[in-house]
Amino acid sequence: MSDTAPAAPQFADLGLPAPLLEALASLGYETPSPIQAEAIPTLLAGSDLLGLAQTGTGKTAAFALPVLAGIDVSLRATQALVLTPTRELALQVAEALQRYAQNMRGFSVLALYGGSAFAPQFKALERGVHVVVATPGRLTDHMRRGSIKFDNMRFLVLDEADEMLKMGFADDLDAVFEKVPATTQKALFSATMPAGVRTVARKHMKDPKEIRLHSGKTSSLDTITQKVWEVSNHHKLDAMTRLLEVEPVEAMLVFVRTKTASMELAERLEARGFSAAALNGDLSQQLREQVVDRLKRGLLDIVVATDVAARGLDVDRITHVLNYDLPHDSESYVHRIGRTGRAGRTGTAILFATPRERRLLHLLEKATGQKIEPQQLPSADAVRTGRLSKLAKRLNTARENTGALQQQLVNDLLELTNMDSNELAASLLAILPSAKTLVEPVADLPAAPPRRETSDDRDSGLVRYKVQGGRSNGLMPKPLVDALVRHARLQRQQIGHIKMFTEHTGVYLPPLDDATLAKLSTIEINGVALQIRAWPLPPGETDRPPRSSRPPRKDFPSKPRAPRPPRSE
Ligand code: AMP
Repeated sequence: MSDTAPAAPQFADLGLPAPLLEALASLGYETPSPIQAEAIPTLLAGSDLLGLAQTGTGKTAAFALPVLAGIDVSLRATQALVLTPTRELALQVAEALQRYAQNMRGFSVLALYGGSAFAPQFKALERGVHVVVATPGRLTDHMRRGSIKFDNMRFLVLDEADEMLKMGFADDLDAVFEKVPATTQKALFSATMPAGVRTVARKHMKDPKEIRLHSGKTSSLDTITQKVWEVSNHHKLDAMTRLLEVEPVEAMLVFVRTKTASMELAERLEARGFSAAALNGDLSQQLREQVVDRLKRGLLDIVVATDVAARGLDVDRITHVLNYDLPHDSESYVHRIGRTGRAGRTGTAILFATPRERRLLHLLEKATGQKIEPQQLPSADAVRTGRLSKLAKRLNTARENTGALQQQLVNDLLELTNMDSNELAASLLAILPSAKTLVEPVADLPAAPPRRETSDDRDSGLVRYKVQGGRSNGLMPKPLVDALVRHARLQRQQIGHIKMFTEHTGVYLPPLDDATLAKLSTIEINGVALQIRAWPLPPGETDRPPRSSRPPRKDFPSKPRAPRPPRSE
């Protein structure tokens, strides 16, 4: 084996307590990701932290593990608060905390987000939960109602801080920072570092240690073509099976994140009839060498590996590297894909990326100096054509090995069966095991759902409304939002883009019923009646950028908000 990377740090070296190390071992984590290797000791030492990190880098564990290390389970009080921009992320973080705390008896975590009933949340908070993971809107509601206590708060974490600021939560974040005790340790993670995020850090954090993943130097990988398939976690195995049908794979090295995942995937591939094996750090050196040797000799076609176990792997037969799970940083990526395109051959590197992981792709493109081309998942038709051409290729090869003996057999069969040669060929196909898939129906794989960019309940399906009054009447977005929240019983996060014109204003909202529209039209803002009506866009027209590239919302001024009466839900 050649080009061995330097030894990675181990979780055991980071100062984490035994129950957490045991949990990581049972989850099959092999080594800390780069952000974890830096953030965990920093947070354990008590420093504030400012981390520039995308989803997929392992940032959740980077804060979750030190937070858990500092929780006193015997104290039934909220000791850590994690803020996330979306409900989806709040749930993910809460689940991750639960997983890492699997050996901390009595530990509890609660996710608070808009759109869910308050009553169970009050009860849980009253009983005492150790960690609260919340979206800012819902947290502010609880703060106003006094249902969440801050006296024992040891940690405050902001996850995806840039997203929360984009969504207009600057005031709410300020309020939270002001509410926690001065001794609270703070960590802020953000995928980008705009001025707003720096301002929050400067205002509220004590000498934060700054961690950013260096993007690695650009490596020349001229012999490798890179492609990305967007696929949700749920459909990765089906997508991989399809990939194996349409790509001219001789041997494939598949990368996953954990030892457990490598075993499971290898087993599932074997169950589907592929010759696959796992390669991970739990295998003895001897077993690992055996796997590599079988791959070299063509006795195995697919190896499912972790980064650690595949370090330096050098097998010419590998035509494809599949990043089944994305790596945590660009250096691992460059190393992974360098396992193909060796010995003067060309290679293909394919990535499966979930919609949330799109951001990480830019880092990988930067590190490899190449564009990673998005690919459509092969259609059912492409799969059928792929299967047919593979069989045609095999038949052509077989023809070279047929002779008088086979001709005689065909003649005998034609006579015995009373068929013509077409019928005989069709019947042979019907009993030929490798032709079985040709008659099976092929379903189209569902495309991955688009990334939900925005808050709790904001989703597609917003409708444009026109409000009387615009800049010339002194109408501002904030009082408009407040009025909509109060009188249309909307969550602030449900309100979409607002565009002010001179005499009127456009606002995107979830569909409102007639009674709500009538009620809103009786409201006045600055003495102007808020007359609101649906304002459909002409067919095919759009006056706002698509969600994924929407500019930051500047339309919410970051002045303190007037207190709102509590809403009943
Ligand atoms: P995150 O960036 O926090 O969203 O994490 C991305 C994924 O990596 C999650 O599925 C984690 O469970 C997984 N993960 C995080 N840290 C590690 C690690 N050290 N080894 C293997 N998998 C990890």
